[in-house]
Amino acid sequence: KAKELGRDNYQPYSKDLHKRITQRLSLHNALRQAVDRQEFVIHYLPQVELLSGRFVAMEALVRWNHPEQGLITPEQFIPVAEETGLILPLGEYVLHAACAQAREWADQGLPHLRVAVNLSPRQFRQAGLPGTIETILHGSGLDPGLLELELTEGLFMRNLDESIHTMTAIRELGVGLSIDDFGTGYSSLAALKQFPLNRLKIAQAFMHDIPDDADSIAIAKSIIALGHSMKIRVSAEGVETLRQLHFLQASGCDEIQGYLVSRPIPPERIPDLVTRNRDFMWVPREL
Ligand code: C2E
Ligand code: MG
Ligand code: MG
Ligand code: MG
Repeated sequence: KAKELGRDNYQPYSKDLHKRITQRLSLHNALRQAVDRQEFVIHYLPQVELLSGRFVAMEALVRWNHPEQGLITPEQFIPVAEETGLILPLGEYVLHAACAQAREWADQGLPHLRVAVNLSPRQFRQAGLPGTIETILHGSGLDPGLLELELTEGLFMRNLDESIHTMTAIRELGVGLSIDDFGTGYSSLAALKQFPLNRLKIAQAFMHDIPDDADSIAIAKSIIALGHSMKIRVSAEGVETLRQLHFLQASGCDEIQGYLVSRPIPPERIPDLVTRNRDFMWVPREL
């Protein structure tokens, strides 16, 4: 089963090590073939702006459409793709497809619908990334302001100057940058302050116990205050309940995403979802 091929759990015995290496190798080979055959689909996770209640963005989330096993979630192959470098062609494919999709939505009369694309650390460090992004934007004809790239906090760890340089080059294209899963990694506030960011995304992990756990509440409020004091926007991930929504509204969070709004869905369902109510309004309903 695909699950067993997935990310390694720590196992102390070497017979398991051999098994794991074999599994990893076969996953690597299968993944390489899948990249050649373009066996990937992208689902989109809607994001809503709280102040206006409108759908404002869609996050591109890749799935492997395996010929026998059906849709495989990214947790099961992104780590191997990252280790083996297959993330580079795969990531470029996702970027390409998401930009083309966002342009199509704009053409269908869904104006100002942003698309958010996750970038892995290896992609971010790849030489010539800003040029690749520029080429893809030109090819799709998408307004660069409608693209936002999600980075992870891992970048705080290494090569600060180079990271800032790459981020600045991307921002100069007119493309937005956010930090994904904020609060779970190694946030150096000194680094954060130097990064040309548009947005912090509060990690899903903090949302679980809101509004019942005082520490999670304190952390979420601090991230919102931190973002706003840096004059950037703050989004919450993994919003599932109306109680979480009410907390985030009261705390001044700018945007939300999560199952309360919608699960990730195929792109052809987006226009219906967005135009169901007037003015692209989202109407909250408990799951
Ligand atoms: P992420 O970027 O933090 O994406 C959010 C994940 O949380 C998605 O899982 C989404 O389906 C899930 N989610 C959204 N709302 C809720 C909710 O209310 N409750 C719960 N329990 N889960 C929710 P998914 O699609 O499995 O993606 C997992 C991760 O895989 C992503 O986390 C991202 O880090 C990575 N990923 C996905 N697509 C790509 C890609 O194209 N490139 C790269 N480099 N990474 C990707
Ligand atoms: Mg998942
Ligand atoms: Mg993300
Ligand atoms: Mg996230």
